[in-house]
Amino acid sequence: MAVSGLGPYDPNNIFAKILRGEIPCNRVFENEHALAFRDIAPRAPMHILVIPKGPYVSFADFSQRATDAEIVGLTRAIGHVAHTLGLEEAGYRVLSNMGQHAGQEVPHFHVHLFAGRPLGEMLP
Ligand code: 5GP
Repeated sequence: MAVSGLGPYDPNNIFAKILRGEIPCNRVFENEHALAFRDIAPRAPMHILVIPKGPYVSFADFSQRATDAEIVGLTRAIGHVAHTLGLEEAGYRVLSNMGQHAGQEVPHFHVHLFAGRPLGEMLP
């Protein structure tokens, strides 16, 4: 599926390699459908990436092709990470960049979870 300049799914993208265990990550949580790990270049004291295990290029692709179970699994993983890391009281931000205009760099759908400092009105 070609969306927003991202092209079809590339099985050699960096997050696919993390999912296959070919390169390491600092894992914080995993369930049947999703993996959560720390961003390599954090833009907040807490910056976690949550990704589906399936081959989805972007949020648009995921929202159109993923099964209900995959969507639930990813959503619950985000909530579980935030809850178990104690982020709910102070608050956190969930964000996904979709396509070239949003600056999506890695062509495997991912959700950013930012926390640990006041995040401003809109962007971290
Ligand atoms: P995007 O701009 O695509 O929304 O965000 C991609 C994110 O992936 C960036 O925040 C970047 O720091 C992170 N990232 C890129 N390569 C790696 C990697 O090899 N390991 C980890 N943990 N994060 C990465």
